[in-house]
Amino acid sequence: MSEPARRTLVRGGTVVTAAGSAVADVRLADGTIVEIGRLEAGPGEEVVDAAGCYVLPGGVDFHTHIDAVFRGSIRTADDWRTGSAAAAAGGTTTVVDFCRAEDGQPLAEAIGEWRDRVAAQDPWIDYGVHAILVQPDEERLAELDALPGLGVASVKLYLAYPGRMMSDDRALFRTMQRAAELGLLVLVHAENGHAIDVLVEEALAAGHVEPEWHGHTRPPLTEAEAVSRATVLARIAGAELYVVHLSSLRALEEVRRAAADGAGVHAETCSHYLVLDESMLAGAPREEAARYVCSPPTRSKDDQAGLWRALGDGGIEVLASDHCPFALRGEKIVEGDFTHIMNGLPGVEQRLMIGYSGVARGAYSIERFVDITSTTPARLAGLYPRKGGIAIGSDADLVILDPAGRTRFSAETHHSAVDYLPYEGIEVDGAIRDVFAGGRRVLRDGELQPAARGGRFLARSTIAPTASRGRRLSEPHPPEPHVLEQRRGATS
Ligand SMILES: [Zn+2]
Repeated sequence: MSEPARRTLVRGGTVVTAAGSAVADVRLADGTIVEIGRLEAGPGEEVVDAAGCYVLPGGVDFHTHIDAVFRGSIRTADDWRTGSAAAAAGGTTTVVDFCRAEDGQPLAEAIGEWRDRVAAQDPWIDYGVHAILVQPDEERLAELDALPGLGVASVKLYLAYPGRMMSDDRALFRTMQRAAELGLLVLVHAENGHAIDVLVEEALAAGHVEPEWHGHTRPPLTEAEAVSRATVLARIAGAELYVVHLSSLRALEEVRRAAADGAGVHAETCSHYLVLDESMLAGAPREEAARYVCSPPTRSKDDQAGLWRALGDGGIEVLASDHCPFALRGEKIVEGDFTHIMNGLPGVEQRLMIGYSGVARGAYSIERFVDITSTTPARLAGLYPRKGGIAIGSDADLVILDPAGRTRFSAETHHSAVDYLPYEGIEVDGAIRDVFAGGRRVLRDGELQPAARGGRFLARSTIAPTASRGRRLSEPHPPEPHVLEQRRGATS
């Protein structure tokens, strides 16, 4: 005999999906959503009162670097214990992270090791993985055939960091061709690495060593050029392209142009570009300015306003965190010239509330907020409708957000292991009260519940190639799948 079903009734909240909102009760049983409507509590059922609150699908963060190593030996501040706790506390119940194979190591072996290492740390929430490729040769590209069977539906290439991470145009284009055949989404870090290297050399030769020169040596046009190149190559190859961490209006123009031209191109921006700007790098003491160093760099107020607009009008489809924290008193490396500072910021815990602040500022509707933080990333990840919505049969991943609450971001109260927060002291309306991950109440009245841990690896479905299909950019993304078609599920 199986045990009686673990049942919870979330009652009286305003249930929000990308398609609309309505007051409704939601019943969770054994990790899935089983009923939605006007429901009576059953005997012995846990009842959670959500009256006056929003009930949202759990957040899906398509871009995190948890327990990652850069420049050979420098590790991010969070392992999966703390990184996934921070995600859960911030209402994110799914992350898609990254696995990079060592040179000469088979991709499948690296992914297997990655899965084992993550599972051993007992994450709070569910997780999937992108495969990072560095200047892949034909041998490496042949390994991509195995990815769908491993539940990995995307590859990422860097067009920046020559000699470390960068792929040249041949490697990028060949990857796109293979990805198009296999239905893999191609992620690009779009900055022109060679041009940036020259600008950096010139700045250092002129004695410019302060952190603000990190920004000056990575101007928006170096981003726009790489975005333009990637969209054109993707179109020729027939690949579906996803531009990570888009930061500038000039780069956004290239995405809009390519999309209007029929390219299968999607853009993501990150929470830090919506809140931080270039002024934080300028003139501040080194220890202060180093807190804000990321790539692409934080941009102008005009760029920032353009990103908010694009999240509303559909030009940008996803809000991710690019959570990549380095300890200020440690791995961030504040000493020396700006090239030593590790690029990356924390944000997995603040992403959802920063996104929600866009509703109050009139940038977009609450439904659009759900779309950019949960539904569309779930679709692009090949996880929809299991993730990214509130529907019968979906995973019981829910966020109860109290609009009357208030949230103050601080390193003193956050759950990441990193020792600072670039959003320190910022306050936003609303507060995340409860979070359910697979029906487990991982956050209860604002408190994490360690006994409720239990995240699992997510085998993701590949997408159908859609190179000839354009997007309409003049209106928000419609909620129903029109870009992606789920193929048969990958085996895990
Ligand atoms: Zn990243």
